[in-house]
Amino acid sequence: MEKAKGVVWDLSDLYPEADEERIERDMHQALELAKDFRNQYYGKINASDCDTGRLKSALRDYEMLLEKIYRPYVMASLLFSGDGRNDRYKALLAMAQDIYSRIENETLFFGLEIQRMPEPQANTILSDPRLGHYRHFIESERLFTPYTLSEKEEQIINRKNLSGRTAFVNLFDEFTSSFLWELEIDGEKKTLTDSEMRQLMRHPDADLRYRVKKAHDGKYGENAIIFTNIFGNIIKDHATEMELRGYEHPMQPSYLRNKVPGDVVETMMQITAEHYSLAQKYYELKARVLGVDKLKGSDLYAPVARSQWTIPFNEGRDLVLESFNNFSPEFGSLIEKAFTDRWIDAEVRPGKRGGAFCHGVTPSVHPYVLVNYVDNLDSVYTLAHELGHALHDLLAGQQQTLLTYHPPLVLAETASVFAEMLLTRRLLDMELDRETRMQILASKLEDFFGTISRQTMYTLFERDAHLEGAKRRLSADELCKLWVERRTEMYGNVVEFLPEERWFWAVIPHFIHTRFYCYAYTFGALLVLALYHQYEQEGADFIPKYKQLLASGDSDWPERLVANVGLDFRKESFWRAGFQVVESLLNEFQDTVKAA
Ligand SMILES: [Zn+2]
Repeated sequence: MEKAKGVVWDLSDLYPEADEERIERDMHQALELAKDFRNQYYGKINASDCDTGRLKSALRDYEMLLEKIYRPYVMASLLFSGDGRNDRYKALLAMAQDIYSRIENETLFFGLEIQRMPEPQANTILSDPRLGHYRHFIESERLFTPYTLSEKEEQIINRKNLSGRTAFVNLFDEFTSSFLWELEIDGEKKTLTDSEMRQLMRHPDADLRYRVKKAHDGKYGENAIIFTNIFGNIIKDHATEMELRGYEHPMQPSYLRNKVPGDVVETMMQITAEHYSLAQKYYELKARVLGVDKLKGSDLYAPVARSQWTIPFNEGRDLVLESFNNFSPEFGSLIEKAFTDRWIDAEVRPGKRGGAFCHGVTPSVHPYVLVNYVDNLDSVYTLAHELGHALHDLLAGQQQTLLTYHPPLVLAETASVFAEMLLTRRLLDMELDRETRMQILASKLEDFFGTISRQTMYTLFERDAHLEGAKRRLSADELCKLWVERRTEMYGNVVEFLPEERWFWAVIPHFIHTRFYCYAYTFGALLVLALYHQYEQEGADFIPKYKQLLASGDSDWPERLVANVGLDFRKESFWRAGFQVVESLLNEFQDTVKAA
């Protein structure tokens, strides 16, 4: 297999060569700029005489110094991603991180002063047209103003967190990353890490999958005292903080972070729960494909096809290019540049980091993409996904400046998942054998049930746990009971879960790291499906509106950006449209399964 041999990126658009001295010099210059910035503006933003003119020039200066540090930082980080064994790159990246955090410290006051500016003054500035496209940045910075405590109190919370909430998060990470499992595979005793165990959950051998799942989740049950304590304290800590800051609901900070109103999130989750039956129907069909009466919990990730479809890089590239081109030749030619101008590093080689990413640097530089292409269908999807991000960055770069360039969280996966949909359509329009077709449809559907239905189920459990756990400490059994109740809503009696799987709430790191994060996945995926549904209805008329949505970056509330495409996420029909797309894919899957 060629595995994209020789497809490496050309970083000369960032720096003509990997000249470490020059890169370091730029970093130090950025730090000097940050110090100048502090000297010039400290105490001058939250000041009675601060007007639009001063705030705007501060914003421009701030962007300039960020631009100055981003370029060398990204260069260091890309060099390191390309070859993690190189000590010089390691040192360069460490230096970039150090200087970046010093710049953050120097400029921290800026955000705080924007937050603390008295309301009438802030409103005058916000309604001044001279503020231009920075308006939304200021609005976003001030979202948390009503819930911010005094500077002294904030400092105390920050310092006490180190031995409080942060300590529990660190305990969770350290403890779970020390986990190893002993398992017999092919008559041989093996010691396995978490990621190896997760790989084996996708193994074709049902008995092996069963033993892996049992051992994996069982280990969390054996350590129930620790996980119950960690989660219980996180819940209690959150409740205390919500009370001190004056929030009304445990999910409220996440609504602000996502810039989406709470009632919209409620509607979304309710409609998602109404469509759990689609997932149930899918898993019934999957049981049939696997030739069993009922799926076990350990079969959820079982492969549906025996053979893997081999797709060399050049073919994968053409498929992705065609899928963009079929949508819009303009998008196609933007993406083609990514290949011809070598913004992509695709080959697998020793020392290169794993996984994939798209790095949108600043509007002044095109994005860079890293994938590890291994000639299979997943690799083609990853390529489409990351190039979707690249397209988003390119279009936003045409209209935005640095502070409004990166899309808001709930729109961050729009172009990437949309690109996957375009690829799916391209693939299904090909003449493929039944098994390959089944493989494509199954992988897409499992993706949707994983990101849409399951993440809502997680959030509903998390909400139960916080509402109950704020009143009194929940026992391990009570947490398991809440978990099984929400899980049963989703899977009905279609899947027979292992007894050990009642501990799965303890496995999910989001509950510990970032409270109420999971529903953002549901939101992002359903939004893309609603957009895709709109595209199916409108055809070519949809394209300029979609392009404008991407080009808008983070320059307005998600609700307004989406409204410009003609969609309204306060309407139930918006969320239902997404499920129509899922349902039609599910029907295609059903027809393919029945064609046997
Ligand atoms: Zn992504």
